[in-house]
Amino acid sequence: MRPELIYIERDIAGLPYTQTILQNFPEARKEFISDIRELIRQNKKTVFTKARQPLVLARQRGRFLEKCPGTREHICCNYYTLHTALGCPFDCTYCFLQSYSNNPYYTIYVNLDDMLAELRARIHGRIRIGTGEFTDSLALEMYTQFVYTYVPLICAVSPDITLEFKTKSAEISWLDSLEDFTRQQLVIAWSLNPQKLIDSAEHGAAPLLDRILAAKTAAEQGYRVALHFDPIIYAPGWQEQYQTVLDLIAQNIPPEKIAWLSLGTLRFTPALKPIIEEKFPDSTIIYGELFPGQDKKMRYPEPIRVKIYRHMLRQIAAISPQLPVYLCMESPEVWQKVYNQLPAQVENLHELF
Ligand code: SF4
Repeated sequence: MRPELIYIERDIAGLPYTQTILQNFPEARKEFISDIRELIRQNKKTVFTKARQPLVLARQRGRFLEKCPGTREHICCNYYTLHTALGCPFDCTYCFLQSYSNNPYYTIYVNLDDMLAELRARIHGRIRIGTGEFTDSLALEMYTQFVYTYVPLICAVSPDITLEFKTKSAEISWLDSLEDFTRQQLVIAWSLNPQKLIDSAEHGAAPLLDRILAAKTAAEQGYRVALHFDPIIYAPGWQEQYQTVLDLIAQNIPPEKIAWLSLGTLRFTPALKPIIEEKFPDSTIIYGELFPGQDKKMRYPEPIRVKIYRHMLRQIAAISPQLPVYLCMESPEVWQKVYNQLPAQVENLHELF
C-alpha cells in the first residue's frame, strides 16, 4: 500500500512519529485537517478500493488499551488489544473490519507518547497485548517503523507485558533491530490458511510459504512465534489442505519456539454477509452450513466445529504433544467436548487463561 493522499490532523502534524511516517511516503499528496471525525462524518458512505484508500494520521482520542471484546456467551482468553491503527492493506473476504467501522480511511494513531503514558498508568501485573485486532500488525512496518520506534519503549513499561503481533505478511526486516531482552517479551504471530484459500480469500496477503519461512527466521533469531488457524474454512478437502500447512510447520518451526496456537472456525455477523456478496461475488465461503450462535454471529453447527477442532488438535499433537492450543471465541460446551475440560483447567494453557 502506497497511499496517494494522506490527511494529517494539524495538532499532531509536528510529532516526530508523524514526520517519520510522512518521510516514508514522499510522493503522497498531503492535506491538513482539524479532526478525523469531521472527515468521517462527511465521507462515511464512501467505499475506497485498497489501492485508492487514503491514509489518515490522527490522534487516538479514546483508550489505546482495551480488553478484547470477545463475544457474548463464548470464552475469551484474557487478551488486551492495543489500538494503534484501524484498517489493513490486505483485503480478506471474511474480514470483520468491512462491517465493523464507519471509518473508510486507513488510520494510524500517532500520539504514541500518550499510549506509553496510558500503559504506565494502567498496567499492573502480567498482561498479554496484541496490536493485530483492528489492523495487520506488521504489513506496513517498513513505512511506519512502529516496532523499531516504540516496541522497546512499550516493553520497558513492564517486564510483565507480552506483546503479540499478528500478521499475514512476511515483513520481518526489523527482526535484528531489537535487543535480546525486548525479544523475550515479543510473540510474533502468523495467521495461516491453506494456499488455496489464501489465493481465493486473502487478497494481497503473503503466500503461505513466505509466512512460514518468516516464522522460521524469527524463531532462528530467538523470537517466540504463535500460529493462528483462524478462520478455518470447512470446505471439501479441508483435512488434506490444513495438513499441508501443518506439515510445513513441522518441517520449519521448532516446537519449542511456538508460544501458542489458536483455532477458530469461520464466524461473521449478519451485517457482513451482504458486503461480502457484493464485494466478492465469486466467494462461496458464506454459503456453507452456517447458523446464528448465541452472539448472533453465523457459525458452522457445533458438531462440525467439534470435528474440526478435534482433528486439528490430533494433528498438532503429532508435531509435538505439549504445544499449547486454544480455541478462539468458542462456547464452554465446545471446549468441554473438545478438551473434556474448560480452558482454565487445561494444563498448558495456564499462561493464557
Ligand atoms: S489481514 Fe486481518 S485485518 Fe487485514 S484484511 Fe485480512 S482479516 Fe482483515
